[in-house]
Amino acid sequence: MAPDSETKRRLGLVQVYTGNGKGKTTACLGLAFRASGRGLNVLMLQFLKPAKGYGEHLAAELIPNLTIIPMGADHMCGKEVTREEDVALTREGMRKAEEALKSGEYDLVILDEINNSMAFGLATPADVIAMLESRAPHTEVVLSGRGVPKEIVDYADLVTEMRLVKHPFDKGIGARKGIEY
Ligand code: ATP
Ligand code: MG
Repeated sequence: MAPDSETKRRLGLVQVYTGNGKGKTTACLGLAFRASGRGLNVLMLQFLKPAKGYGEHLAAELIPNLTIIPMGADHMCGKEVTREEDVALTREGMRKAEEALKSGEYDLVILDEINNSMAFGLATPADVIAMLESRAPHTEVVLSGRGVPKEIVDYADLVTEMRLVKHPFDKGIGARKGIEY
């Protein structure tokens, strides 16, 4: 079922999910699920994340109007040192994102972990804003990840910060299948 023109007309905003608490990518996936139920065409491009090992990649295969494309090598890559491979993958990811935003093919484009890419210095806020400016008018965009730069906060229409109160990681409980990945 395709969305009606009034539904599409009200899209086109920029949302940000950031902060140190768990829930940013989960919120993106929840939104993707809701939007897909309304017939919106959803694309999630994952910066930094590798192709294997995420439950959401398997779930997306079950939903025809939801596509998830991992485009990275290592989620935590830029933490200590920036590698040539991550610079190249980010450049290619930015190219793919711009193409998707401009194409008008998608009602919702989620750029998962792109905030981390900016925080790691792999992409500049100016480049990301220029890319956002080129989006089709009805394409809603979500930027997720830790450490969002102020320029992006100023540009966005919606910003939510997930604040860390407690995380089982601090008790030595590592990432769990179906919950974290
Ligand atoms: P999720 O994908 O579970 O919604 P997230 O997108 O908010 O998490 P990321 O910054 O992408 O979090 O973190 C990647 C991984 O680290 C996830 O598996 C997440 O559950 C876990 N994580 C999130 N917050 C913390 C934390 N404060 N301490 C340790 N691990 C965390
Ligand atoms: Mg995440």
